[in-house]
Amino acid sequence: MPFPFDNTYARLPEAFFARIDPVPVSAPTMIRLNHELAAELGIDVERLNSPEGAAILSGNRLTEGSEPIAMAYSGHQFGGFSPQLGDGRAILLGEVVRADGVRHDIQLKGSGQTPFSRRGDGRSALGPVLREYIVSEAMAALGVPTTRALAAVASGDKVVREGLIPGGVFTRVAQSHIRIGTFQWFAARKDHDNLKVLADYAIARHCPDAKLADNPYRALLEAVIERQARLIAHWMQLGFIHGVMNTDNMTISGETIDFGPCAFMDSFHPVKTFSSIDHQGRYAYANQGPIGHWNLTRFAETLLPILNDDPKQAIAEAELALDTFADIHRMDLQRRFIAKIGIENGTDADWNLVQDLLSAMTAGEADFTLVFRSLPVALECGNDVGVIRLFNQQEAISAWLSSWRTRLENTSSDLREAITLMRKMNPIFIPRNHRVEEAIAAGYDGDFAPFHRLNDVLKTPFSEQPDSAEYESAPTPDEVVHATFCGT
Ligand code: AMP
Ligand code: MG
Repeated sequence: MPFPFDNTYARLPEAFFARIDPVPVSAPTMIRLNHELAAELGIDVERLNSPEGAAILSGNRLTEGSEPIAMAYSGHQFGGFSPQLGDGRAILLGEVVRADGVRHDIQLKGSGQTPFSRRGDGRSALGPVLREYIVSEAMAALGVPTTRALAAVASGDKVVREGLIPGGVFTRVAQSHIRIGTFQWFAARKDHDNLKVLADYAIARHCPDAKLADNPYRALLEAVIERQARLIAHWMQLGFIHGVMNTDNMTISGETIDFGPCAFMDSFHPVKTFSSIDHQGRYAYANQGPIGHWNLTRFAETLLPILNDDPKQAIAEAELALDTFADIHRMDLQRRFIAKIGIENGTDADWNLVQDLLSAMTAGEADFTLVFRSLPVALECGNDVGVIRLFNQQEAISAWLSSWRTRLENTSSDLREAITLMRKMNPIFIPRNHRVEEAIAAGYDGDFAPFHRLNDVLKTPFSEQPDSAEYESAPTPDEVVHATFCGT
């Protein structure tokens, strides 16, 4: 059997999901199969790398051991609560356990309607399938906790979006698909028994140490808060804007999930937003920390009935845990950005130096990724021209570069450590929006070469790739992508 399934979620009470098979598609063809990931997960990649594999990864054929379910969840979307969301176009086929014991979900996305589809068709257009493949794998290569891409399949069917467009099925791998919204599902229904079942399951799967704590549910809350605080700082280190941080898009595992209207910034601006539906900038770059805290507050609220029998005490415990978010997030963010300018174990003065650089980048409309990667080059060749030319306004950056050099030279006469650190923190290659769009547009025309090429380049984002230098570049003015779409 291609997947050595070992399913646990399907053993939970029926209230957690609906049992439903994927709906077949017309003519599935494999676009890309992630051989490395399959090998890591003990999946029989040879069997999947065949017409049978395309049938399996489109939902046309169920394999041995698969117990397909659509998971139930609720969620706050742009601040408003929807009690009834759930997998409207996704089906969990089952779970596999990696050699190190970490359990992973294998999920199809775009696999047809489920009892949670509401008015949706249960399908995915090809574009979002390709986008999620590219961006989630890029995130993994950049070292960010994330759901992964196992496969992208063209369905051979058309879906109705803005007109009729080709459809696809995406196979997502996650340490689990339990979201804050999954807890909200039971909390909204005042189903405290199942809430407890879910919390115990999440502890066993994602934070086994919490089981030994005085209050395991508080330990679960603290663990999720810490993971999300660090995850969001990690996104920000790389200029990533998630775009749709609804509570149903925030995992308990601490993995990034849902690559809809997401984007990596080109030119830096702290309140940049890409999502075409985020009119108020709720999920803007610099608002991601506060929104993470807001979402975790919703998570804490779901846990109140099991945190403590005394409701007042439960609130006090939740508040204590939530209060840790700001410091963890700020300290992680500061550490990351100070390291991006080549300093380990920085001080408040170094954080001010970072702020000054970001202000100069905002005013000078400088490209986030190019600027940070130009810093080690400037040190190595003792010449600032390569940095300064990235800025429209050059006075502030020139002044900044001399303060920065003074700071570094005061610490150490040997700049090699700073250079190595910066090369580790600052990637050369990110999934630039215009490149992602280019790969999607070609894919719609049946040409997947740009999609494959982009995926290959993004596998080693921190290494020089002289043959792919064009993927480093910022977009030209007519290539700039200003808005991204959910494209469901
Ligand atoms: P998302 O925007 O992917 O986070 O999805 C939000 C909710 O809408 C989830 O409950 C999805 O399952 C549901 N949904 C999104 N697109 C579709 C679709 N094409 N058909 C059915 N449900 C969908
Ligand atoms: Mg979602």
